[in-house]
Amino acid sequence: MKVLMNAGPWLPVPPRGYGGIENVVATLVPPLRELGVEVVLASVGTSALPVDELLSVYPDGQFGALQRPYNQVCGVAQAHLHGVVRALRERDDIDLVHDHVEAVGLATVAALGPDAPPALHTLHWDLAKHPDLYGGFDGGGRVRVNGVSASQLARAPEALRAHSVGHVHLATPLATGADRRPRPAKGGYLLILGRITPGKGQDLGARLAHQYGFDLILAGPVGPYRDPADLPSDADNPDARYFHEKVAPHVDGQRVRWIGTVHGQERDDLVAGAKAVLAPLRWEEPGGTFVVESLALGTPVVALARGCLPELVDDGHTGLLTDDEDELAELALAADKIDPADCMAEAARRFTPARMAMRYVELYSLIRDHVFMSIR
Ligand code: UDP
Repeated sequence: MKVLMNAGPWLPVPPRGYGGIENVVATLVPPLRELGVEVVLASVGTSALPVDELLSVYPDGQFGALQRPYNQVCGVAQAHLHGVVRALRERDDIDLVHDHVEAVGLATVAALGPDAPPALHTLHWDLAKHPDLYGGFDGGGRVRVNGVSASQLARAPEALRAHSVGHVHLATPLATGADRRPRPAKGGYLLILGRITPGKGQDLGARLAHQYGFDLILAGPVGPYRDPADLPSDADNPDARYFHEKVAPHVDGQRVRWIGTVHGQERDDLVAGAKAVLAPLRWEEPGGTFVVESLALGTPVVALARGCLPELVDDGHTGLLTDDEDELAELALAADKIDPADCMAEAARRFTPARMAMRYVELYSLIRDHVFMSIR
């Protein structure tokens, strides 16, 4: 089977540091190819993931354009998708499109008409974001969607759920052999890893760190700014405003530090060395890449029980969950009662790249056979 894997125009695959969807694609493709799936990757020119073929419109990632005003940014995803559509028109060897581009990817593959290959569109994000697109969606039997957690799909509009083939939990390369890795030595800090953005609740984590007396490291970009030294004080995008207004007042460089984006070994050591990864969520976390990564590195997750967290974290065994903001701080202080070995074992059991790839191969076959049957 030959699959066109559309990772979008925003970041290369694998990304350097931050990049949730691109990390998932980078994790999925190698075991898919081991299972005999040929992969044509639609991404940007700097993508270095080994694939059978790379298609790109943009030479490099366009992430910096996100959060610009709509009239400046709306053509970027479309230009990339236009390149994908042209490729699909010019060739007839693609058996299935696996699309990961928010909203416009779904609309574009659905618009392709009955002669186009069947498509699976993975919903990586908060489904409350596009009620009109999802509420009226019709994939015509050729386009199916999958979620990244059961809780995410449970909240989906009925029209979207009708086109769903279920959910596939995310995986990270780190979960391969997680339980055979040496147990990490723990430092004295908690960590929030991810975009600095209201949904991830860094302001709440930072306030609790001061109030209850624990050290907290914030790692991740603020909008397009990866390095604290690059963030202008008057940056005009919503995440930068959130950082300046709500988070920065708590960042004192000691109790609470923002270190910008980390990647590679530095990121892994930072995660493995944390007492716990903290998730003071203000949104219904859809897939929780950071959860899967933390467990693989032997770090428990202490979180507000929102979105997929209760599905991914075994409360009391691989992490600690609560619905209460103040109790979250108390749990953060008690995180060392969770055994890192239990986290690693659970990651090695539930969230491996091979398991994710096998599940996608099943879905690809299901979709292809279903479309084939409905044409006959
Ligand atoms: N990440 C990283 N370095 C950072 C912050 C994040 O490598 O400084 C990675 C993180 O490990 C995860 C991804 O970026 O793989 C973020 O994905 P997640 O789904 O948690 O966040 P979202 O896609 O919601 O922004």
